[in-house]
Amino acid sequence: MSDNPPIEFDFPDLRRWETGGAAPYVHVRDSGKPGPTVMVAALTHGNEVSGAIVVDALLAAGLKPRQGTLIFSFNNIEAYLSFDAKNPFKSRMIDEDFNRTWGRLDQPATTLETRRAQVIKPFVECADFLLDLHSMHDDCVPLMLCGPLDRGVALAQKLGAPVDIVRDRGHAAGMRMRDYGGFGDPKDTKTALLIETGQHWRASSVEVAKDVTARFLVETGIVEEADLPAGWKQPTPSGQRVVQVTHAIATKRGNFTPAKRFEGQEVIAKAGTVLGHDDGEPVTTPYDNCVLVMPSINRPLRAGVTVVRLGRLL
Ligand SMILES: [Zn+2]
Repeated sequence: MSDNPPIEFDFPDLRRWETGGAAPYVHVRDSGKPGPTVMVAALTHGNEVSGAIVVDALLAAGLKPRQGTLIFSFNNIEAYLSFDAKNPFKSRMIDEDFNRTWGRLDQPATTLETRRAQVIKPFVECADFLLDLHSMHDDCVPLMLCGPLDRGVALAQKLGAPVDIVRDRGHAAGMRMRDYGGFGDPKDTKTALLIETGQHWRASSVEVAKDVTARFLVETGIVEEADLPAGWKQPTPSGQRVVQVTHAIATKRGNFTPAKRFEGQEVIAKAGTVLGHDDGEPVTTPYDNCVLVMPSINRPLRAGVTVVRLGRLL
């Protein structure tokens, strides 16, 4: 018996997108008319397949921009191609996390991921708007990670879905693609969003990836809704909420015991509520109405790994 979650959809054969583009597995469509450059990226993590299904479908449909330029990329394609259903989490990456390399791309590439990021970098530099399509290890509600800047929150609110918007600063372990260059510069106007569509292999993750991508492409003005496949856009939720991440709780030695099972995005009413014990030391909520963002609390973790991020409702 395997403890791995079920895989609820077929993985697309992406090899047809290797050639014929601006770079391997990168395709650029220029309308010939002035307008924004808009990039949709899939497979920043190789086993996060919902975004790959979306980009594969849009390329296959021949989606063209009405103005500006549209860029599609499959980022860590080598990791995707290494997928093994017996060990499905391993294909997140080959040598290292593609999405932690972006602060050191001026240095010689020593890993498959830094080499690939150097190929992807000029396209990210061209883009005015970037949507990076991810999914989650754990079964959690979809989250839009809009970065630390006001304009990220504003764009996420214009999209109108998903319900949960997370304002965050990224990872101490290295810069994400979505924070690179002008995207992370408070004085620039380039705006990036990172959607976590739900658990990697849930059919619902594909629905979320389709919905959010459709909203993003229409909002940036690059296409009209009628240009997109029917049925992608879902009903707009009645409201959204924004959570500011304030703390990242890491386990010191990988010896964290949760107080209960957490699903993610719970609001813990009282400050001082025990979330669990790390090496026997209680970990408590620092303020009232504390939101648990993407808890990895329910599974064994290595030393130093983030167990949960804590946030305030804005
Ligand atoms: Zn990811």
